[in-house]
Amino acid sequence: MNHAYPHLLAPLALGPVQLRNRIMMGSMHTGLEEARGGLRGLAAFYAERARGGVALIVTGGIGISEEGALAVGARLMCRPADVAPHREVTDAVHAEGGRIALQLIHAGRYAYNPRQVAPSAIQAPINPFTPRALSSAEVDRTADDFANAAALAREAGYDGVEIMGSEGYLLNQFLAPRTNRRDDEWGGDAERRMRLPVEVVRRVRAAVGEDCIVIYRQSMLDLVQDGSTGEEIIALARQVEAAGASLINTGIGWHEARVPTIATLVPRGAFAWATARVKAAVGLPVIVSNRINDPALAEALLAAGEADMVSMARPLLADADFARKAAAGTPAAIDTCIACNQACLDHTFSGKMTSCLVNPRACHELELTYPPTTAPRRLAVVGGGPAGLACAHVAALRGHAVTLFEAQPRLGGQFVMAARIPGKAEYAETIRYFEHELARLQVDVRLGQRATAAKLAGFDHVVLATGVVPRTPALPGVDHPSVLSYQQVLGEGVEVGGRVALIGGGGIGVDTAHFLADAPAHEAQAEAAFCADWGVSRDLQVRGGLTTPQPSPGARQIWLCQRSAGKVGRYLGKTTAWAHRALLAKRGVQILTEVQYEGVDDAGLHLRVGETPRLLPVDHIVLCAGQESEQSLRAPLEAAGVAVTVIGGAERAAELDAKRAIDQACRLAATL
Ligand code: NAP
Ligand code: SF4
Repeated sequence: MNHAYPHLLAPLALGPVQLRNRIMMGSMHTGLEEARGGLRGLAAFYAERARGGVALIVTGGIGISEEGALAVGARLMCRPADVAPHREVTDAVHAEGGRIALQLIHAGRYAYNPRQVAPSAIQAPINPFTPRALSSAEVDRTADDFANAAALAREAGYDGVEIMGSEGYLLNQFLAPRTNRRDDEWGGDAERRMRLPVEVVRRVRAAVGEDCIVIYRQSMLDLVQDGSTGEEIIALARQVEAAGASLINTGIGWHEARVPTIATLVPRGAFAWATARVKAAVGLPVIVSNRINDPALAEALLAAGEADMVSMARPLLADADFARKAAAGTPAAIDTCIACNQACLDHTFSGKMTSCLVNPRACHELELTYPPTTAPRRLAVVGGGPAGLACAHVAALRGHAVTLFEAQPRLGGQFVMAARIPGKAEYAETIRYFEHELARLQVDVRLGQRATAAKLAGFDHVVLATGVVPRTPALPGVDHPSVLSYQQVLGEGVEVGGRVALIGGGGIGVDTAHFLADAPAHEAQAEAAFCADWGVSRDLQVRGGLTTPQPSPGARQIWLCQRSAGKVGRYLGKTTAWAHRALLAKRGVQILTEVQYEGVDDAGLHLRVGETPRLLPVDHIVLCAGQESEQSLRAPLEAAGVAVTVIGGAERAAELDAKRAIDQACRLAATL
């Protein structure tokens, strides 16, 4: 028995099937499912996770019919010819000692398909198409389609199937009065709304036999108006158990919900209570999910009896070896998912291949590799921000002798400031990971040392990852004592008064507004504060688990300004920008767009909004006006004949973000 995580690493018997621990890789559509050239990339992606010790993997959702697929052209499992390509995936996972289940999905009104179908003809707010209501006979046939797909999945070598019943997809749509207005045998009252999901479980079990894992992914909390009540959710779980499921997995929130469910501003494990109340009502094992990215938290949830297994998807994108490192008792070696969504869900929802901000190899396993070097070199990396850290790490992994210079007394660069933003504490985990890895790989880290061309002269290659310096706009009065840079506020902790104007509504402006608007909450109250901010209710009778939000007021009076039209933070990720803006509104932050700045004096910030002059009578003005590249070492090094490569913000400050910086750093280090 593992002493650090005895519950998490205990095996689990599901009838005749034995799982080696309680860690499941949850379903996530990667884009590899539809890759030209077949499923080789998907097989490599999952095999790496199985090799990393995860017990059970659930694939991304595979459509059980053409109309039920997530989008036109998505991969299906409904005809005999669909089976063969999957064998490469199942064989690869089995060769690594893992188990894998195929997720069966019917997207209903979420299908990106003009021929979409649903319980009733009600358009989803996140889809341009309006569905056609299924006839009674078609509903019955849909249950058969699930069973047919499950039988085909077995033929393809899958150890089980997961029936997708959450997140607002078809089966969820049948359950909720929001989307099911039928009055036939498939709707009308709670019992009849439950009929299709239960029938699907029954027919799937009959189709696959007893030695197959059948997971039902159930919405534990819909977070939409007219969703299911807690009582209905518990009643469904009991019926799903009676119909023959082996496991119940957790889904939280429909895709159209306006409550964040997995973004970094959601406290860790914030929704585990919703799973725990279902677990208390059923006898079969239950899987907990959402914002669990750390083995200690997973262990605590299992030890408290709140669930029997833990599902993690993004944490296994970030680190394929999560389970193996937990079992080895080295959690500090885990590259922790920081819940940013930037390279995973933001990519998925913009039709790009999924990857991971902290691990660019995710979903690129065949193409981005870090083989040991045959010609070790003396490499200097200048700058200990995300780009420099990632480059030093991969270069050292490959066997180069690396020296890292960082002018500040600690590593992390922009991530040090990011970790101070409310709801972004996870960014500190990336710094912790790199500190651990650089020490393990014996990188010579020189903190508090500004590199000079003279110090760098003896290296075979120098990588400049010196980052950015904040831009100071040409504005009358910009040198007034009330004007601060965001670095002074976030990095140096300079005190800020009760009335503040922020110049610049990009990512840093939005972050700084959060920092200044939030009253520091005690960690123990984070979950309660989150529920109050977003109106999440634990009342079993409340539909959708939603009540009136009671957000905490802003700690300051804040104006967030930009010159351009459109929304602030519009270049932030698709899946998170809306939540940031909503939270700023809850804190009373005033947004001013299309402004022209006129100057700063003792009275405050003078500007024009359109033709109207305004004075913002503020104590401080914080500049969040973007960045300029810092690459002053480049010219002297090149003049001295030293081989130099410039990466990250030092190379290009415009649209700089950590995703591009880390990706560029890893790809460079892979070739050095
Ligand atoms: P940014 O996104 O480029 O935003 C800079 C802001 O400053 C813009 O709103 C711009 O708006 C304004 N600005 C630019 N030049 C100005 C000037 N001369 N005078 C006055 N205003 C000026 O840069 P950032 O906010 O520093 O962020 C840097 C990068 O980090 C971005 O890629 C950002 O997305 C990323 N980031 C991401 C997150 C995240 O959570 N994902 C958080 C923080 C940062 P106007 O031109 O309209 O005035
Ligand atoms: Fe986690 Fe961000 Fe990586 Fe997605 S991109 S897996 S949220 S660290």
